[in-house]
Amino acid sequence: MKPAQPRILDVLIILLAIVLCAVLFMQPSSQGGMVKVTCDEGTFLYPLGDERTLTVSGPVGRTTIEIHDGHASIVDSDCPNGTCMHSSISRYPQTVVCLPNRVTVSIEGNGGQVDAATY
Ligand SMILES: [Zn+2]
Repeated sequence: MKPAQPRILDVLIILLAIVLCAVLFMQPSSQGGMVKVTCDEGTFLYPLGDERTLTVSGPVGRTTIEIHDGHASIVDSDCPNGTCMHSSISRYPQTVVCLPNRVTVSIEGNGGQVDAATY
């Protein structure tokens, strides 16, 4: 008996599965999340899928937050050291904080996905 030859349909199904996995893996998983901005002016929620730039005020001046392409970041701030401007967040539970200006930007929720579960 001859070993079974891979049929063209089998190869196609495997290729399709690989492509589907790659597409699912490469999609930002947190597009359904919300960006929560907390500052002296209050707490605001924006969809992570938005394209938006907002400026809030705090004790040392203004902080500009940009939500772009599924990421949120502080792009400008009047704080003395500017370390808050070095990171970009895209998924729960990441947070960017500008301590001097008392601004917190965090990702809330993750589109119903669970990172881990224990029973
Ligand atoms: Zn800062």
